[in-house]
Amino acid sequence: MTKIKVGFGFDVHQLREGQPFMLGGVQVPHHAGAFGHSDADVLVHAICDAILGAANLEDIGYHFPNTDDRWKGISSLVLLSECVKLLAGAGWSLGNIDAMLCLEAPKIKPHIPAMKHQIAAAAGISEEDVSIKATTNETMGFIGRQEGVVAYAVCLIEKN
Ligand SMILES: [Zn+2]
Repeated sequence: MTKIKVGFGFDVHQLREGQPFMLGGVQVPHHAGAFGHSDADVLVHAICDAILGAANLEDIGYHFPNTDDRWKGISSLVLLSECVKLLAGAGWSLGNIDAMLCLEAPKIKPHIPAMKHQIAAAAGISEEDVSIKATTNETMGFIGRQEGVVAYAVCLIEKN
């Protein structure tokens, strides 16, 4: 009998002028980008937390602390692969990912196919099992003022 579990992840980063903007493993051209440890890829971080959460394996900060220089400036896709390895180590396999980006600018739609490709490759699943959506915050709050970017993700894991 197959056992399934669901996981949820959330992440937020500040936007700063002149930073490269990594989203879903893709550098999106923009005058500002997310600031933080590793490459500050808010979308991949939310997905990592969804995966770890599904298997009850703590969170991204627990496994990849920002006090550890090993993870400084690293591609978050590497962290995603590590999370899937932790998942496999606990006997689980990843089913699908559904994620939502919330940011005011730039337009994300043209970059979604490349993001799906990168995430699917790092997570070892089919692109068909990676859904990425994007919305604005209707100009309200810190997202609307382009001070920050937010991502949410859910995933399904299964064990036979
Ligand atoms: Zn993050």
